[in-house]
Amino acid sequence: MQRRARSLWDSYGRVADDLRISVTDRCNFRCIYCMPAEGLKWLKREDILRYEEIVRLARIFVERYGVRTIRITGGEPLVRVKLEELIGMINAIDPTLDITMTTNGVLLRQKAQALKDAGLNRINISLDTLHDDRFKEMARSDQFTRVMDGITAAREAGLWPIKLNMVVVQGHNDDEVVDFARLAHSEGYEVRFIEFMPLDGDNIWTNEQVVPSRRIMEQIEDQFPLVPFNDTRPGPATRYTFADGAAGGIGFISSVSQAFCTSCNRVRLTAEGGLRTCLFSLQETPLRELMRSGVSDDHLGSVIEGAIWRKEEGHLINKPGFIKPAKSMSQIGG
Ligand code: SAM
Ligand code: SF4
Repeated sequence: MQRRARSLWDSYGRVADDLRISVTDRCNFRCIYCMPAEGLKWLKREDILRYEEIVRLARIFVERYGVRTIRITGGEPLVRVKLEELIGMINAIDPTLDITMTTNGVLLRQKAQALKDAGLNRINISLDTLHDDRFKEMARSDQFTRVMDGITAAREAGLWPIKLNMVVVQGHNDDEVVDFARLAHSEGYEVRFIEFMPLDGDNIWTNEQVVPSRRIMEQIEDQFPLVPFNDTRPGPATRYTFADGAAGGIGFISSVSQAFCTSCNRVRLTAEGGLRTCLFSLQETPLRELMRSGVSDDHLGSVIEGAIWRKEEGHLINKPGFIKPAKSMSQIGG
């Protein structure tokens, strides 16, 4: 008998209904704001959740707790073999789920159609610069052309609308924000400007490198006036459309300058099966060994409920008491 879903409340009155699943800590890039150039040890294969284990947890979140959005991320999710099979398995839980993915785009030419056919609804592609040489510096990769072609492939496969994620880092790519707005305006993408968060593997983050969304918006509005977009779905981005009616849009994820913790509806599962209630959590709730020891779904459910109830009130970036998590963004799953 189908049980009725109940919401996953935390003690501050928020409901977690957006699940982010990291399928790997591995990546084929080394973005300066995310991973160190070298020296990050990968998880052992046996320590990473198998697809069946991910699907078991996804099913609990969907069927018991009414989660409607599942985002696949990593590391780079497309380095995991046959990712489209996982998408198909999650889609089979409930074909009306909103299944999305964040990717660096480099493998999309090979994968976009299979992902779409398996049930992927939407895609966010990370792109920090429109210049090949700068791409080499920021992603520490020479695959710029392949990423641009990957974006085209996603579009051709019908993964639309496409969101482009740009992490703006002062002195690296902040002079390109208007060019990105122009791209959104001409091609119909939604470009999301993300503030650099202290989750990099090199420990280089300083507040001076954060470009506040307000400053980016002022620059864009000089050339492309914007109008607020009334979002029906809660989310971290403040979204705008173009005042002249062009198809694309602009979003700002102001995690540092205007934290959105009071309305945060996210919960994260790391590649090794750790439940994280915040990007900046200092501890996580390990689910892998529990599952492998043979506990019931009821037991797993009670552990999940307890972890969500204890969700942090918010992060403390730029406040006394902030402690940077030991894990980098690629190890957490952004
Ligand atoms: N590899 C995939 C990608 O790059 O799209 C998915 C994983 S990546 C960790 C997810 C998102 O986190 C990307 O859009 C990336 O730009 C963003 N990100 C990584 N490190 C960040 C940081 N320190 N601050 C803000 N965003 C970050
Ligand atoms: Fe890899 Fe994505 Fe991190 Fe870049 S942001 S290093 S592509 S996980």
